[in-house]
Amino acid sequence: MKWIISALVLSVLVFLAQAAVANPQLRLPYAAGETWHVDQGNNSTPTHTVAKGMTYAWDFNWGSGDQDKGRPVLAPAAGVVIAYSNNNSNNGGWGNMVRIDYGGGLYGRLVHLDKVFAKTEDIVVQGQTIGTCGTTGNSSSPHIHYQTENINGQSVASSFVDENVLLQETNGVPKSGSRTHPQTP
Ligand SMILES: [Zn+2]
Repeated sequence: MKWIISALVLSVLVFLAQAAVANPQLRLPYAAGETWHVDQGNNSTPTHTVAKGMTYAWDFNWGSGDQDKGRPVLAPAAGVVIAYSNNNSNNGGWGNMVRIDYGGGLYGRLVHLDKVFAKTEDIVVQGQTIGTCGTTGNSSSPHIHYQTENINGQSVASSFVDENVLLQETNGVPKSGSRTHPQTP
């Protein structure tokens, strides 16, 4: 009986993952109505380098100084959480983090979190709060570091359906500037 339930759970997970895929319509990882600034990023030293596989990573800041610490961090798309860390260790530089399998070979990683509200095997919906903004791991001040990844953890080009069209990235490499998460209708 147990294996039947396991198989059922697995098939549901696979179904949800596949449903989430095809073309994940990413939403910005913060609350509707908020405007955050894309800071350092963007195929540049010292952190978002090609060597580190972070060419397409995004750093988002809100307000000034540490004002963004504790603000909700949202899942950009639906998926299944396949890794997380909430023990305040460095964790390879990520600190507290959540990695989501969107399906179709695409993953999302949200790092430097303060608090983490998700764990492995959780099914998350788009816009679900998976943690709060922090500065754990290799981070000098609170911000959201987000990257869409392949299975090997290398960042891949992605964009958000709700970002300002004037601030679109160039060839998938994010540009700095302010990005508003509009209210959902
Ligand atoms: Zn970063």
